[in-house]
Amino acid sequence: MSVGSVRFVTFGCKANQYDTQVLREALGRRGWREEEREADLVVVNTCTVTTDAGRKARKLIRRVVREHPDTKVCVTGCLAESEPEVLRELPGVEWVLGNGDARRPLNFLRQLGCDVDPEELGIPAGITAFAGHTRAFLKIQDGCDRSCAFCIIPRVRGANRSRPADELAAEVLRLVEAGHVEIVLCGIHIGHWGREWGGEPADLLAVLAAVEPRDERGAPLPFRLRLSSIEATEISPRLVELMARRPERIAPHLHMPLQSGDDEILAAMNRWYRMDEYHAACERIRAALDRPAFTADVLVGFPGEGERQFARTLQAVRQIGFSRVHVFPFSPRPRTAAWEMGPAVPPEEVRERRSRLGEVAAEVAQTWRRDLGGATDLVVVEGEGGLSGRYQRVRLDRRDFPATPAGLVAVRLEAHERDAGIELIGRADGSLGGAA
Ligand code: SF4
Repeated sequence: MSVGSVRFVTFGCKANQYDTQVLREALGRRGWREEEREADLVVVNTCTVTTDAGRKARKLIRRVVREHPDTKVCVTGCLAESEPEVLRELPGVEWVLGNGDARRPLNFLRQLGCDVDPEELGIPAGITAFAGHTRAFLKIQDGCDRSCAFCIIPRVRGANRSRPADELAAEVLRLVEAGHVEIVLCGIHIGHWGREWGGEPADLLAVLAAVEPRDERGAPLPFRLRLSSIEATEISPRLVELMARRPERIAPHLHMPLQSGDDEILAAMNRWYRMDEYHAACERIRAALDRPAFTADVLVGFPGEGERQFARTLQAVRQIGFSRVHVFPFSPRPRTAAWEMGPAVPPEEVRERRSRLGEVAAEVAQTWRRDLGGATDLVVVEGEGGLSGRYQRVRLDRRDFPATPAGLVAVRLEAHERDAGIELIGRADGSLGGAA
């Protein structure tokens, strides 16, 4: 295909957004320009985690083809890996490229029929920027060696494959020098980073935290690292110790998938930990860090989940004091162990549990926010306020910040009771470094 205009549409997780950026840069280097409306080529990077994700992608593809019949559509990502034949049947779809092809940009270009210059082989791996974002995602590994009963991901993403620390350090340097003040380490199962050679995420974090980007005048450029989703049992004492030692460099926020608060359901899900281990990890982290933010994913309505098991999930959410819980209804996926499991929970019960859990989670989050008064944090400035290391929206106090600062700002938090809930205000405070 000759050079023209391209539009990217991405569904799903941070790893997918990173993969899209890799393709964007591969096409951009060859002169393709991005066009939001009538592009010659539309690349749809799909997700297959839930039935809904697949449905949305198919709907979008049909709409693109209906509205712009001359556009060529290339579908890639996890749905292209799990349902290639369904996608090939969709009118207007020219290419269906699974993760194997899309992961290697040169392969991707060849599949589209573009000439590939061997010089491109020398281009450093990874990305150079995350256009339009203050925070950039950095994919540190791909794939997963676990086999949770509800999850299709290991089938479509393969086994764990970690990227080398020096390559990632070079990428952090590039991204910060390109203006990104927060780098979010993402992947499919980041707790298994380095496992192939006996390493662990703490090794990588130590290397990345030591990166020292500088501006053109040689002044240090502040930045912060954030771990995306990491399993509670894979957070080592070394990792916690590093987070405690470098609060200005590593956000005190851990997203630890919980899935259920009940041991029987965890076993049925083929999750490898039990609740006492999850609680122990939270306690260990809480003892080392100042008011860390814990967020989690919880699946409701997994086969066999009755009121008794669900009550344990509610109890765990209250006890752990999450700052946010993402509640997902169980969505059976073909080719997973849970596909034929029973007994199924009736949909109206799933809906009801989802809303009950949502209410409890919101209440718990308010209590947690109320207790943040006096904590120090760094805010990535976006408009009037920004995003704190604990993943909270913070408004900057105009008395201390009469002009909107840029980049990372060090604050001390005040928690104010408002009608709509707790509002966090950032007052200037130099204890964590940053711009203040
Ligand atoms: S740990 Fe479980 S839920 Fe997470 S990607 Fe692997 S199989 Fe899926």
